[in-house]
Amino acid sequence: MGESSALPEQGLRQVSAEICQIVAELYRDGLITAVGGNVSARVPGSDLICMTPSGQFKGGLQPEDLVAVDPSGAVVWGSGRPSSEVDMHLALLTARPTLNAVVHSHPPYTTVLGFFPEPLEPLTVIHAYLEGLPRLPFRFSQDRAFADAVVAAIGSQDALILENHGLVTVGVSIRAAATMAYLVEEAAHLSYLTRLLGGTPRLLPPDALERVRQMRRRGRSLLG
Ligand SMILES: [Zn+2]
Repeated sequence: MGESSALPEQGLRQVSAEICQIVAELYRDGLITAVGGNVSARVPGSDLICMTPSGQFKGGLQPEDLVAVDPSGAVVWGSGRPSSEVDMHLALLTARPTLNAVVHSHPPYTTVLGFFPEPLEPLTVIHAYLEGLPRLPFRFSQDRAFADAVVAAIGSQDALILENHGLVTVGVSIRAAATMAYLVEEAAHLSYLTRLLGGTPRLLPPDALERVRQMRRRGRSLLG
C-alpha cells in the first residue's frame, strides 16, 4: 500500500483546481505577475495546505504543478517545492483557524501606493471599508521573522499592505481572499488616478463614512 493512500485525494483535486483557476484570473488581471505572488488553501478533510509552487511561471499553472504541505511545512503531495513564502501561509492559517485561504499578490497600484506613507483617503465606500488598512514595513519574505510579522501586522483584518513588496489577503475561501485583493487594488487604482489629477478630491460624506464604520463593527462584509 503506497503512502499516498492516506491523502485526501478528492479534496486535493478540488482545491488544486480552484487555486489554478483563481491564480489564472489574478495573473490575467495583473494582480499576480510571472513569478510574483502565491496562493494557498486548506485541503478539506485534512490538516494539509495546498499551494502554488516556487519559481514556476504563474500564467499557466496546472493542478499537478501544485504542492501540499503538512502543518510542519513538509511536502506530502506534488513534486515541486512550495513557495518561498510557505511559512507566511502556514503561520496565517495556523493563527486564524476560521480562515481557509491566503492570497499573496503583487497588484501594481496597491504596491505603488505602498511606497508612500499616506493612507487611502475615503473616496468611495470601498475605500471607507478599507479604512485603517494595516501595513508592514519592508523585510525580506524569505526570513522566518517575516511570517510572524505578517501575522502580527494583519491582526484580525483581511488585508495587509507589504510596503515595497505587495499585498496579502485572507478569506474563508480562495475566492473571498482573491476578491479582497481585487477590492484593495480597485481602491488603490482610484486613489492613484486621483493623486495624478492633483487638487483636493471630494471625500465620502461623513455620515456615509460612519455608516460603513458601523457596518464593519457589526462584522458585515462587503463580500456579502
Ligand atoms: Zn511577493
